[in-house]
Amino acid sequence: MSQNKQVRVRFAPSPTGKLHIGGARTAIYNWAFARANGGTFILRIDDTDPARSTDENTQIILRAMRWLGLDWDEGPDKGGDFGPYAQTERLEIYRKAAHSLLAEGKAYPCFCTPEKLAADKKAAEERHDSFQGYQRTCRNIDPAEAQARIEAGEPYTIRIKVPLDRGDVIVHDAVHGDVTFNARELDDFIIFRSDGTPTYNFATVVDDALMGITHIIRGDDHLSNTPRQIMVYEALDAPVPEFAHISMILGPDGKKLSKRHGATSVEEYRDAGYLSDAFVNYLALLGWSLDGETTIVPRDVLASQFSLDHVSKNPAKSDPERLNWINATYLSVMDNKTFSVQVLIPELVSAGLEPVSDTETDAEKIYATRPAWYDLLSEILKPRTTVSPDVVEKSRFLYEGAEVTFDEKSVSKSLAKDGAVSILEAAHAALLPVSEWTPANIDAALEVLPEQLDLKKRVVFQAVRVAECGNMVSPPLGESMALLGKDIALARLERALKIAQ
Ligand code: GLU
Repeated sequence: MSQNKQVRVRFAPSPTGKLHIGGARTAIYNWAFARANGGTFILRIDDTDPARSTDENTQIILRAMRWLGLDWDEGPDKGGDFGPYAQTERLEIYRKAAHSLLAEGKAYPCFCTPEKLAADKKAAEERHDSFQGYQRTCRNIDPAEAQARIEAGEPYTIRIKVPLDRGDVIVHDAVHGDVTFNARELDDFIIFRSDGTPTYNFATVVDDALMGITHIIRGDDHLSNTPRQIMVYEALDAPVPEFAHISMILGPDGKKLSKRHGATSVEEYRDAGYLSDAFVNYLALLGWSLDGETTIVPRDVLASQFSLDHVSKNPAKSDPERLNWINATYLSVMDNKTFSVQVLIPELVSAGLEPVSDTETDAEKIYATRPAWYDLLSEILKPRTTVSPDVVEKSRFLYEGAEVTFDEKSVSKSLAKDGAVSILEAAHAALLPVSEWTPANIDAALEVLPEQLDLKKRVVFQAVRVAECGNMVSPPLGESMALLGKDIALARLERALKIAQ
């Protein structure tokens, strides 16, 4: 990398669908590379395929980028000195660039009809020609004649003139090393179609050159386009950027990633309850590593330590279990207020557990109504949550008044057993005098019961747990009962007693 050149990178999605995890990872690498080098991250919408690009998809991509926290320095909604940042708004720029190449003799109009091209190809096949590309039929048409044919309205494409003596084209790739292509195989490819639209290989290079892009980090499905793009840079007399082609993301089984492997778009992960920070961490590690072992790489570390020499050229396999582990780790270290406001309360509200008026849906406001209660609930849920929606079922028992929903199996294993009555009566008696209703005081009151009743601790606590929480797998008992409040906790013991008797 030239040391003193300001890094400028771009992520250039085509809005032909949602933002998928492969694209998201490309965006993350570009963003992190820009941040780690004090450079500029540009978002450009490559919407030159009008049949497949939609404004709705563009909006989905922008939304996903914002959710991922990949702030761009130049691009849609943001502007910048090198705009516009959508290719459909740059058609005139491409047209001018193509016409300059025509004027300089670096490109030429081609009048070959599709039928002629097909016939040439067939003939090349039949004579087993090692070169089966365009036969350069129109390369030597006299410019005056070509102009006359254009003026007469004959349809034409514009082809680039690949220099005959160009020799091998070598792509210097930060991930793949030097990759050599035979220039003759490139043929004089089309840069402008007869309908007046530029081809991808042309528009992209015109943009990357004009936008001063220094490094192109993108999927390795584009590696085979790169020698053609280098021909365009050379024709434009523009410096060729550095390339880094990153490998595909495969499914856990090593096969091409598809719907069959589960969620593939960014917003599906958001909706499934993954944190943006954890998701970015996970995706960053699919093909890049900090030091070969660290699994938790927070965004700020990524933004300061990312480098292309730690990008692997082997395809990465997606690993949902690792994502779950990373997400759970991020959740477990959140402070209670953040967990409450960003994870817990929004989930409780959307599950309808927190009855909120329209004016009061702000999680911060709900939190402020009883911060200590949410803090305590967060404290016990944080280590037990993999994805955000997990909190709902674990909190439901707190919202049922005295009438907790019983899990039948738990009831038959505890409340329906001999001895349950005496356990529940003793628990009630022990808890009634507790005045300061804290987890520690509740635990202390219950602690003495096994000895007093001469029963196993597990048996005693299970019965109380089922009475209070409805099942045997609820969060810690003292905390759960503290959250219920004394009145409800005692009322639940009384109700369970009726069932046990
Ligand atoms: N629009 C292209 C794509 O979505 C980007 C290609 C590139 O980065 O050059 O695949």
